[in-house]
Amino acid sequence: MSERIPELSIEQFAEVIRLFDPHMDNYLYVMDLKADFYQISDSAVERFMIPAAAFYDANAKIQSFVYEKDRPLLAAEFELMQSGKRKEHNLHYRWLDRSGKPIWINCRGGIIDDADGQPRYLIGCINETGKKQRADNTSGLLGELELASYIRSNADKAPSGFFMRIGIDDLSSINSSSGTGYGDYILKNVASCISGCLSGNQKLFYLVAGEYMIVDTEGHTSEDAVALYKSIRKRISAFIDAENYKFVFTILAGILEADITTTSYEETMKLSDFTLSKARELGENSFYVFSQKDYEQFLRKNKIKMALYHAVDNNFEGFEAYYQPIVDSKTADLIAAEALMRFFMDYDGETIGIAPFEFIPILEETGLILPVGKWMLEESAAMCSEMQQYIPGFKINVNISYIQVMKSNILKDILEAIKKVQLAPECMGIELTESGYLDTNFHFLRLRNGLKENKIPFIIDDFGTGYSNLHCLSDLSPTYIKIDREFTNKALCNTYDHELMVKIIEMAHSLDLRICVEGIEETEALEEVRRIDADYIQGYLFGRPCGKKEFFEKNVL
Ligand code: C2E
Ligand code: CA
Ligand code: CA
Repeated sequence: MSERIPELSIEQFAEVIRLFDPHMDNYLYVMDLKADFYQISDSAVERFMIPAAAFYDANAKIQSFVYEKDRPLLAAEFELMQSGKRKEHNLHYRWLDRSGKPIWINCRGGIIDDADGQPRYLIGCINETGKKQRADNTSGLLGELELASYIRSNADKAPSGFFMRIGIDDLSSINSSSGTGYGDYILKNVASCISGCLSGNQKLFYLVAGEYMIVDTEGHTSEDAVALYKSIRKRISAFIDAENYKFVFTILAGILEADITTTSYEETMKLSDFTLSKARELGENSFYVFSQKDYEQFLRKNKIKMALYHAVDNNFEGFEAYYQPIVDSKTADLIAAEALMRFFMDYDGETIGIAPFEFIPILEETGLILPVGKWMLEESAAMCSEMQQYIPGFKINVNISYIQVMKSNILKDILEAIKKVQLAPECMGIELTESGYLDTNFHFLRLRNGLKENKIPFIIDDFGTGYSNLHCLSDLSPTYIKIDREFTNKALCNTYDHELMVKIIEMAHSLDLRICVEGIEETEALEEVRRIDADYIQGYLFGRPCGKKEFFEKNVL
């Protein structure tokens, strides 16, 4: 309901705001709709990109600190208020903080009309909805701000103990399928299940989004924490049972044995967040106890991940395509190369090479394999085309990942790469490792057919490992297969595998397929694979993978 204009002037409103500001977490504001003037708490100016605590030209200037995507929403709201159609303002949208980061706010207020019944002032309050809370009314527990001050105040007196961060698995699906009311009901009951298991000096706090933190200052160890976690789980199962399995959920726990006197609040939050995400990786109903080694691996992985992002953003700086010779088994002539990706990065002030088995899974996980894989195709096609000046018909093999098959139009990328340098399609082979589902996968079959139509060789990599087996030979109809290094080595030293390899080669030949044997390091091994009639050979004996320049120098210049 709109109200009549009060006796206060805008200056007096401003004074009231100034008086309240030091005593509240929220921000107060008043806007004179007629004069297009805006006044807000000083603390909001410190926090957000607001030009000043008081300014004219309010309609336009407010938009400058509203997150771009939310500007139309706010403009429409102002229009409704100014025209008198809306008397209550309650909008959830984002403002930009001083660093330009969008921050969720809830802006509420009411319109006060002037003596003629025209909307004159909008007056109200803004609160940050993502802000850490002192207390959570749903769970009835103290919130993260209180946890921070508890840790700080115990810093010089508490003995060691543990932190246990508990998360409800899949709270968002509870909320979306049964409504937030039921979600809140679960949050509250989980809080009481946990509380019921705690002893005297163990304290429970509510963090955000279905996460709780137990702080033990009683000198208990991580084994005690695990026992506590199990008893909490039991109580929660009993609760789910009592609810007639209306919703089944599980809890996860990250456990951090810690000496509170040396662990800061920030450190605690960071490490406990890590423990909970590890528990989440382990799956439903899991717990994870902090290990320094795992944490260092996690930090290393993050460093590599950041460096990979940076490299992709900077024209693939740090990536390099290496090439390894593939020779004809009979003549030992160089006929092709396999392109192998390398990544170099700055690590603690030193440039180091990261092994493919370490960085390729990260590229796959982040989706960066799509741009980098495309770049590899282009580099390799260009290298092959240059090599053909020295060795006509020279071929290049490029590895592709199943992520590229599933999530990009890989055939288009391949065709573009060869077209760019006018490479004959027969000269670029695509290597892919079978992973157990290819023969029935739509994306793969489309690629396989596209390669066939365009006469691009398709090569099954790492044959003899994982999922690859004889059915690949007929079902996937490759152009040739590469026998894995481990399998080759086994075949060279035990008769069973030797016999198997002989039969595989015979069978492949009977199907008119060629065989490339990988991992040949010694001349004896070479003689043996020649005897059993392998077609192509790749291995350190004929050259290790190296950069393009070196490859040219060693092989043709
Ligand atoms: P892969 O496709 O099986 O590549 C052959 C690996 O065997 C290469 O390891 C190569 O250096 C190594 N190798 C070759 N001959 C010998 C030998 O005689 N002795 C020994 N000990 N090793 C030999 P690398 O370069 O470390 O690559 C590892 C894997 O990373 C590759 O295995 C491939 O699966 C993946 N990879 C490399 N580059 C790419 C790429 O551009 N894209 C994708 N998706 N995966 C790649
Ligand atoms: Ca390969
Ligand atoms: Ca291989």
